[in-house]
Amino acid sequence: MIFSMSNFNGSKSSGSEIEQLVQLLSRLPGLGPRSARRAVLHLIKRKDGLMIPLSGALQRAVEAVVECTTCGNIDTISPCSICCDPRRMQNSMLIIVEDVGDLWALERATIGPVRYHVLGGVLSPLDGIGPQDLTIDALIRRADEFGEIVIALNATVEGQTTAYFITDRLNGMDIKITRLAHGIPVGGELDFLDEGTLSQALKARTSL
Ligand code: ZN
Repeated sequence: MIFSMSNFNGSKSSGSEIEQLVQLLSRLPGLGPRSARRAVLHLIKRKDGLMIPLSGALQRAVEAVVECTTCGNIDTISPCSICCDPRRMQNSMLIIVEDVGDLWALERATIGPVRYHVLGGVLSPLDGIGPQDLTIDALIRRADEFGEIVIALNATVEGQTTAYFITDRLNGMDIKITRLAHGIPVGGELDFLDEGTLSQALKARTSL
């Protein structure tokens, strides 16, 4: 058992093509070298059913993927399928998100026929990220198409600083600006929540 585990973790236990695959996969979020090695072994064992189809799907994705020039979403057409959806064109709500992953998360929540704007990050002076590094100017250019803009940024210092900055830039335009509620998660128990979350939830209370 001890021998097989050390062999499993060893860096030179397989050919260079396999090692290269392990190294590439280990760069994926959530996968370290050890789980990448496990994933590669899983792929090799299922060459026909998984590895070959995955290889084809990756190649097709490489050729097809584009960034939407309107909202910043990732799709195979630009403007993307969300921006081209007639039901969404009739709805005047725009949701601002930091990253494409946030857009996809909101889409999974099936919140309705809304449109999005991907900022590509948040303001962070310490990391040298200023307004010119985000798509804020593009947002301001398309903002007057919408009746309501929901700022759906993370509840971090950078996220909230960015939200204030955007609100300031939109100031004077005839648009309702809202943000996501901060507070108790669905299924959350009060006794297990931190004071900051509880305090935010109380401030953001709503009528029943
Ligand atoms: Zn789009």
